[in-house]
Amino acid sequence: MGLLTDKVALVTGAGSGIGKCVAEIYAHNGASVVVSDIDEKGGKAVAEGITQAGGNAVFIKSDVSKAAECEQLVAATIKQYKQLDIACNNAGIGGESAPTGAYQLSEWEKVININLNGVFYGMRYQLPVMEKAGSGVIVNMASILGAVGFAGACAYVAAKHAVIGLTQTAAIEYSAKGIRINAVGPGFIETPLLKHLSQQVMQELVALHPIGRLGKPEEVAELVLWLSSPPSSFVTGGYYPVDGAYLAR
Ligand code: NAD
Repeated sequence: MGLLTDKVALVTGAGSGIGKCVAEIYAHNGASVVVSDIDEKGGKAVAEGITQAGGNAVFIKSDVSKAAECEQLVAATIKQYKQLDIACNNAGIGGESAPTGAYQLSEWEKVININLNGVFYGMRYQLPVMEKAGSGVIVNMASILGAVGFAGACAYVAAKHAVIGLTQTAAIEYSAKGIRINAVGPGFIETPLLKHLSQQVMQELVALHPIGRLGKPEEVAELVLWLSSPPSSFVTGGYYPVDGAYLAR
């Protein structure tokens, strides 16, 4: 018996990086997993990999920046598996690097639409289903940049700070209804999100983590699993860094 046996879990942005590892660790612990992503190729590959490893997963395409698609995603999950116990609102992008006074308006909108609105739209349609069931768990993917600033990343930083506030607010509203909601704050993690960065920038990022390296997506997924499963039954409304002491610096 796994930690998540008989549970149905939905992961957005699950076609790559952290979301892929979350989907895999959920499935490994017995959950049936809806692997969702805007990227059909990556998402399908993750769902197939889980199935080939003996787990239970389906891919459902969805763009988190569109409310109607988030609504459809929850409906498709219920149609497929009849329930929704766990949601990890993980999809996100980095956005361009530019100072606030020169940040492109279109880029600001894109980052906010995906990284902030995407989390709200997710919860907006996940919560009524969980409320009806009288239980549920939501883990929202924030960042260390939800707690501090970072030059060149105004939209990303604003969105991640907002995700933490949104998480706290929803937790206050829904904890007495049997729904736990937390946010996770990864430090810089070795995923395709960082692929555009030069070797020199990567080294500068490593220096910001007292542990002396960047994180691995599996290390974030372990925390998400814990927050999603019964051992964390009194944990709600929190923000949990997994960051090699980045914030402690
Ligand atoms: P990644 O690029 O490897 O994966 C992100 C996934 O999200 C991709 O599969 C992409 O197709 C998907 N996606 C993008 N836009 C989408 C949309 N509109 N709708 C649905 N899916 C969409 O990145 P990652 O590093 O795994 O990032 C996952 C989350 O973790 C993000 O929210 C990111 O902000 C957060 N995070 C990452 C780091 C890091 O250093 N990698 C640090 C802190 C937080």
